[in-house]
Amino acid sequence: ERAAIVGVTGFIGRGLPALLARHGMATTGISRAGGGSVEGVDRWQSTDSMDFSGHRAIINLAGERIDRRWTEKNRRLFHESRVGLTTRIVEAIARLPEQERPEVLVNASAVGIYGDRGDEILSEEAAVGTDYMAGLCDDWEHAAQKADELGVRVVTLRIGVVLGPDGPAFEKLGRVIRLGLGGRLGSGKQWMPWVHHDDLRAAISHAVFSGSLRGPVNGSAPHPERNGDFTRKFAAALHRPAIFAAPAVVLRLVLGEFSTALLSSYRVVPSALERDGFRFRYPRLEDALGDLIR
Ligand code: NDP
Repeated sequence: ERAAIVGVTGFIGRGLPALLARHGMATTGISRAGGGSVEGVDRWQSTDSMDFSGHRAIINLAGERIDRRWTEKNRRLFHESRVGLTTRIVEAIARLPEQERPEVLVNASAVGIYGDRGDEILSEEAAVGTDYMAGLCDDWEHAAQKADELGVRVVTLRIGVVLGPDGPAFEKLGRVIRLGLGGRLGSGKQWMPWVHHDDLRAAISHAVFSGSLRGPVNGSAPHPERNGDFTRKFAAALHRPAIFAAPAVVLRLVLGEFSTALLSSYRVVPSALERDGFRFRYPRLEDALGDLIR
């Protein structure tokens, strides 16, 4: 059995082939360069010439990073690397004769699909939001769902803030807190759906091998935290204070519109995964930090 992973060179993707191998699944890596060096990848393809024959699962984790200025030019990159590339993946699936098509497509999406929702508890049944990021994620999911019409089981994984070594959120926040400069963002009341990197990869693997999971699936831990609590617990785990606060106006000046992603409240719960029998190894932030900070 074989999976193709688009975006396998990225933070989340890099650790996946080894995990799939434990289930007896080999990995074809797909990157823009047509090659790379990722443990457990024994074949490579380029995103310009994808051929999925002989693959049971397609996992798509590609996307231009959004933690940069949301200029017109960058917005085009965000869109093309997500909606555009996902559309090309579905086209490559459509080119295969029906009996040779993959069984499942697990496509990345993000909790940003819900928009800023205060204290509302967000399961997969919640309506999608109306801001820029929500629209981008919605288009991304629609592009992936087109594979459903081709007889492919489609899971769109609405990923939260992934915590792990080399992960952008974890590294940046860790650096700031170690300097004693950590603190809440804005009011600190906004809910942050976080997930331990091992749990997220296990959830992707679960989505591949569970025959029953389909449609939108929240990919964050069962106990999201308010940003202020998150920062306080992170600082406590590093034995540092977290006394500062970054006002919303300052964040907006420094980060531009990306600040809305940090200041929005997403109280997301992983209903679909739990209903499907998935168990989180790190359901609470304290457990996750205990593992990540040693
Ligand atoms: P990375 O930023 O590590 O990037 C993943 C891969 O995407 C890269 O290795 C690259 O592969 C490919 N890529 C980057 N830019 C482009 C581009 N302009 N066009 C085509 N491909 C591109 O992502 P993560 O592993 O952190 O995340 C995976 C997915 O999950 C992303 O789509 C991300 O938006 C989403 N997500 C991640 C979260 C997180 O906390 N990490 C949170 C919510 C969602 P190559 O160079 O090999 O082509």
